[in-house]
Amino acid sequence: MDVRFAAALEAIVGRRHALTTPQEIRAYAYDGGVDRSLPLAVVLPGSTEEVAAVVRACRERDTRFVPRGAGTGLSGGAIAAGDAIVISTARLCRILEIDAPNRIALVEPGVVNADVSAAARPHGLRYVPDPSSMAACTIGGNIAENSGGLHCLAYGVTSAHVLGIRVVTPDGDIEWLGGKTIDTPGYDLAGVFIGSEGTLGIATQAVLALSPIPESVQTLLGVFDSTDAATAAVSAIIARGIVPGALEMMDALATAAVEADVGAGLPTDAAALLLIDIEGLSDGLEQTVDTVASICRENGAREVRVAKDGAQRDLLWKGRKSAFGAMGRISPDYYVQDGVIPRSQLPAMLRDVAAASAKYGLRIANVFHAGDGNLHPLILFDKQKDGEFDRALAAGADILQACVARGGSISGEHGIGLEKRDCMPLQFTPEDLSFMDRLKSAFNPDDRCNPGKIFPTGRRCGESARTAKSGALDDRTAALAGEPF
Ligand SMILES: Cc1cc2nc3c(=O)[nH]c(=O)nc-3n(C[C@H](O)[C@H](O)[C@H](O)COP(=O)(O)OP(=O)(O)OC[C@H]3O[C@@H](n4cnc5c(N)ncnc54)[C@H](O)[C@@H]3O)c2cc1C
Repeated sequence: MDVRFAAALEAIVGRRHALTTPQEIRAYAYDGGVDRSLPLAVVLPGSTEEVAAVVRACRERDTRFVPRGAGTGLSGGAIAAGDAIVISTARLCRILEIDAPNRIALVEPGVVNADVSAAARPHGLRYVPDPSSMAACTIGGNIAENSGGLHCLAYGVTSAHVLGIRVVTPDGDIEWLGGKTIDTPGYDLAGVFIGSEGTLGIATQAVLALSPIPESVQTLLGVFDSTDAATAAVSAIIARGIVPGALEMMDALATAAVEADVGAGLPTDAAALLLIDIEGLSDGLEQTVDTVASICRENGAREVRVAKDGAQRDLLWKGRKSAFGAMGRISPDYYVQDGVIPRSQLPAMLRDVAAASAKYGLRIANVFHAGDGNLHPLILFDKQKDGEFDRALAAGADILQACVARGGSISGEHGIGLEKRDCMPLQFTPEDLSFMDRLKSAFNPDDRCNPGKIFPTGRRCGESARTAKSGALDDRTAALAGEPF
């Protein structure tokens, strides 16, 4: 990269926090998804003012930049495609305030999700959105992706728990969007920013709403001999007016991987498992647990277990939260899809997933937020085998098309990023996309901030812009010291 620009970045953040050598920046070519691209450089600012100074330096040299949290994103959002630098929030990781009486927390964007609840717990409070990646992902990434989690069925996703965001705009100005109160007059600019996938600026502080820890929690495990029966139980529970804290499903392949990894005592001969949290006031909770257990049995559950204590409950949830990583036990590689359908379409949609599995000759495990109709098919492949990577991408595209055909959406919570940008026309008209583009331009007129994300490139959904096998988006990355990606 240009030495004068490198020197300017070093002057802002210090030499230690401006990374330019291939060895230093290699790890930033990845996120949790399938795309790879080497950034020009990586800077790690230590304050909002340093972020703003870096952004202004980028503006002066017309250089593009990409905000990055922990890099656990699953749609390539934090990947610097083309010539761009990465601005990492790794050093912006302080919890600035827990204001228990007002039930809010003021945090920097690099704070790890689980650390917010850990800090709030002594006050009887928690931060509700709990992605399975909560031990690693950051609040900045959660805001950018409007992340969901196991307990978002009852309480809403990230947008329901963020009151205000301090932002460095793509021009390098510093603004507050929203504030510390439940509503701020005028346009809901925090609402616009949440879910914008890092294309409208860089969050440098956030005001989070904290919620009371429920008085009582019970966890049930429903064991089913067919996925149809399990999905019917999901719809029946919600139709009875019960909204569980969490309502998750795993199929047999996912359960086999989780058992091999965590040993949570799950029955590996079942076709499907439901994991259900019932939480709230102690009074009446047992009754709700009994009702949910009965609904499961009425819909064909062969067994319903209730966790006896916190340790059993934690083990069951550890199994669910480890499900993605557990795929490594049964496959060299996997590709996570993310789509939403109306709950009533779950049985038919799982048949669509099975059809994609048969068509492309790849195993697909299902583990997902069943209560929300948010599917996560895990497409298993081996990138060393010719054509498997491309077949995995094609299977993913078929699944997304089926989601839209069934009245759903191409993403539930993982975002569009690079991975799904060419699938946007499945769901949106050119007029819809142009309207979104005008909104982006109001914040980010020169497209310097996280370029190339969300908007289609003209390829077809599933048609790859990547190098087969490596997932690399450019030759420089593919050639990176002959490294296997
Ligand atoms: C095993 C596993 C399980 C997962 N489970 C879930 C789940 O249950 N629910 C769910 O929703 N997601 C889940 N994810 C996806 C991922 O963890 C979330 O999208 C998470 O919010 C990403 O956070 P991050 O800090 O890793 O962000 P990154 O991957 O670093 O970035 C994601 C996006 O956010 C932008 N960004 C990051 N920080 C900022 C900032 N400060 N300002 C502006 N933009 C920013 C980036 O530019 C990028 O577009 C899972 C991922 C893995 C690997």
